[in-house]
Amino acid sequence: MTTSDSHACHAPADQMQAAARAAGNADLLDRFAADYPKGPHDKPESMCPAFGSLRVGLRMRRVATVLSGSACCVYGLTFVSHFYGARRSVGYVPFNSETLVTGKLFEDIREAVHQLADPARHDAIVVTNLCVPTASGVPLRLLPDQINGVRIVGIDVPGFGVPTHAEAKDVLAGAMLDYARKEVQAGPVPAPRAGRSDRPTVTLLGEMFPADPMMIGAMLAPLGLAAGPVVPTREWRELYAALDCGAVAAIHPFYAASVRVFESAGRPVIGSAPVGIDGTHDWLAAIGAAFNVAPERIAAAQNAFVPAVRAALEQVPVKGRITLSGYEGSELLVARLLIESGAEVAYVGTACAASRWSAADRDWLESRGVAVKFRASLADDLAAVDGLDPDLAIGTTPVVQHAKERGTPSLYFTNLISARPLMGPAGAGSLGQVVNAAMAGRPRMDRMRAFFEGVGQGDSAGIWEGAPNLRPDFRAQHQKKLDKAARAARAEEMI
Ligand code: SF4
Repeated sequence: MTTSDSHACHAPADQMQAAARAAGNADLLDRFAADYPKGPHDKPESMCPAFGSLRVGLRMRRVATVLSGSACCVYGLTFVSHFYGARRSVGYVPFNSETLVTGKLFEDIREAVHQLADPARHDAIVVTNLCVPTASGVPLRLLPDQINGVRIVGIDVPGFGVPTHAEAKDVLAGAMLDYARKEVQAGPVPAPRAGRSDRPTVTLLGEMFPADPMMIGAMLAPLGLAAGPVVPTREWRELYAALDCGAVAAIHPFYAASVRVFESAGRPVIGSAPVGIDGTHDWLAAIGAAFNVAPERIAAAQNAFVPAVRAALEQVPVKGRITLSGYEGSELLVARLLIESGAEVAYVGTACAASRWSAADRDWLESRGVAVKFRASLADDLAAVDGLDPDLAIGTTPVVQHAKERGTPSLYFTNLISARPLMGPAGAGSLGQVVNAAMAGRPRMDRMRAFFEGVGQGDSAGIWEGAPNLRPDFRAQHQKKLDKAARAARAEEMI
């Protein structure tokens, strides 16, 4: 399928990086490295990052998405997108070694977007280069900006450059904002479907529970402000309204490319979020200051909402030790809420990098003795569960699986925590019930553990008619071969 092993999608990331640089994508990779700093691990440990940008495109009205990449990657991405309820097709331009090296793939992509560009059906078409076309330098920037009024947005989202699927959302959101900003500079653009607000607006950066923007809007009203669109947007024309704000709230802290566009348009960007007692108090102050709202008005808003947050938290107290990890970008905010609910949060791991928009949350947590790990690896998260022996582990699928095996109550961050309101008084009590119910299930976990005790683990798991046919001698022999091959490879390197 591919030209050489260094361009194959199973090639090591450094080889893919080198190929992409040689193919003219050095600037792109340098920008990714600055926007999405890596370390301590340099490989995505979640699903293919391109899923993030694919999902953003699929959620938008009148936007078509086209993938260019290896068939196996596209199969996986389309499978997952339909699993998560994408109710529309994903376009695919296949390639082989020949069309990749001769440039025919680019011609095929151009032909595909021409065929798709029907202004009656689409406002925009998003074309995404996955790993192999990015490593080969397939030049999506040479696609026409628009065809028959349908905007063409080409992005590269390689797994060897974009660390998580969260950050891939920013790659597409940033590219679309950048496009929309040029349109705004060139002349009049359509107004938002619901009309323009008569108050200055705050654009909200980061996908959140649908009730959260409404709660934020209610908290902004006493300041004489309104909630603007949520970025990533659900419609192209919302991008103009997002740019037309007075300030941006980086509710999720990893939208580096989007922030670049907002800042170049002169919009201040405020980190953290109105979550919990201190979070709501400080966020209202920061937003008020960004809009030069009179101090007494800010105090009035704080007095209206902070006691309500406190009362909601007191109604559902949480007792117990919790470890928390995820890749959504809201992990630190959730930890703040849990601590103010009374929980002992010993560890917070996030797959996202540290940024200036999460700095206040990190400081708040660390001042309360919480170990905060940015770019946490699965090994970090599992070590926290084993080392801290929590009453509840909130985490990603493998963390939850590990916790269940050891009889620790656990909750999926993405499905069960992210799918709840977090902001202001509405968010304050929302976590308590689910967290307390999970912790109360510990005796059930113990019974299950006792029931399954002795059924085997790893390669001896399952039902065996006799004793498991374990051959540690085969394993040791194979390990010797691997060690020998590694030694030979090292010796070759030194020659
Ligand atoms: S596009 Fe890259 S990161 Fe995604 S599945 Fe394919 S090889 Fe993996």
